[in-house]
Amino acid sequence: MEHFVILGGGQAAATAARTLRDEGFGGSVTIVSEENRLPYERPPLSKAVLQGEADVAKVTLIPEEALVDLNLDLLRGHRAVALDRGGRKVILSSGRELSYDRLLIATGSRPRLIDGPLSGKSNVFYLRTFDDAERLRAAMAPGKTLLSVGAGWIGLEVAATARKLGLQAAVVEMAGRLCARCLPAEVGSALERIHRDHGTKIHLDTRITEVAGRDAVEAVTLSSGEVLPVDIVVIGIGAVPNVELARDAGLEIGNGVVVDPFLRTSDPHIFAAGDVAAMRDETGRSIRMESWANAQDQAAAAARNMMGENSAYSVNTWFWSDQYDLNLQMIGDCASDGGEVFLRQGEGGAFTRLCVAGGKLVGAICFDAPRDMAIVRRLLARGYSPAGDELQTAPDLRKLL
Ligand SMILES: Cc1cc2nc3c(=O)[nH]c(=O)nc-3n(C[C@H](O)[C@H](O)[C@H](O)COP(=O)(O)OP(=O)(O)OC[C@H]3O[C@@H](n4cnc5c(N)ncnc54)[C@H](O)[C@@H]3O)c2cc1C
Repeated sequence: MEHFVILGGGQAAATAARTLRDEGFGGSVTIVSEENRLPYERPPLSKAVLQGEADVAKVTLIPEEALVDLNLDLLRGHRAVALDRGGRKVILSSGRELSYDRLLIATGSRPRLIDGPLSGKSNVFYLRTFDDAERLRAAMAPGKTLLSVGAGWIGLEVAATARKLGLQAAVVEMAGRLCARCLPAEVGSALERIHRDHGTKIHLDTRITEVAGRDAVEAVTLSSGEVLPVDIVVIGIGAVPNVELARDAGLEIGNGVVVDPFLRTSDPHIFAAGDVAAMRDETGRSIRMESWANAQDQAAAAARNMMGENSAYSVNTWFWSDQYDLNLQMIGDCASDGGEVFLRQGEGGAFTRLCVAGGKLVGAICFDAPRDMAIVRRLLARGYSPAGDELQTAPDLRKLL
């Protein structure tokens, strides 16, 4: 009987395991997860879980009963420490060895750690795991002051949740705008306004120059000279893919474990998906995404290809973030400031920004306009080419379908 092994216990691992069974894989499947929990999804950690509105059962992807129904072997609290590619074996921290016919690396990513005086302080938090969220939540008492270091998605979502819970919130960012890597300037500005309107203090083009406090941070001095007293510091300065295992085994590594459009690594028996995978497309461009949908879609495609389907993965990448009552969604290629852009204004500051390249719709950002996203998805799937400026002027986007 064939044996497929999946390394990692997150979104990609859970989706791959389910897909294998949905697609009729009859061999054995083992999931190796270093976390001591059932596979769970992470997006609620900075939102509903931190707000106390979702417990672990709500975020669990494969409950105990489903493990049994799907005949999946989950090794919890086991870390994969080495790959023996010649012998097609995974070596676990316990010394146990697992043989595989096909292997999926779905080891995700981990928070980038901060150097300097903030590191190691008792009130400095990172947010990646359910345990991290529980620890942070316990510290977030109303009236306290929370500082997010980094104005990326995690820093901003945590600041928004803090305000909802009655804390004071501030964000310090070295760049001149929010989510500078993913959002065009005008969308970053709109997001900044929302934060300011909710009383979050945003410090752009700013560094922390001094940290006061011995075991815990009591205050930080900013490059502007301002001193901020703080109770809680959350670091959100990006993530690093967990590639070490693959790299030590001699697999090709770029900005992640390099895979082809079939999600195959440089070893044909080994696949990778999710945050850890850097997919090289036909043009040689290598793209690594950190998003729920990417983990989900790539893992499903990888699982089918592990079973021999051989179909190339190409999906318009989709991402969302919830901050306060704002829902922001992005699809396809829409992050750059350039290209041809059409803007549709909605009510109360909502808008949809549509990007066209080579005469075709290539992506969109829906800022508090989730209904538009459903239409954009259908337009993208059809390979829609706009006539003139109809994307901006059509009274109803649905009419373009
Ligand atoms: C707080 C937070 C909020 C987010 N919000 C959003 C959002 O709103 N929208 C969105 O699109 N995306 C969001 N994301 C991103 C999204 O959750 C990730 O892109 C997704 O979880 C990636 O799934 P993955 O399976 O690739 O990796 P992960 O979920 O990181 O899972 C990898 C697992 O592998 C384990 N592992 C690593 N190395 C080993 C090893 N050697 N042996 C065994 N196990 C190992 C890890 O411990 C981990 O459990 C958020 C992420 C976080 C942390």
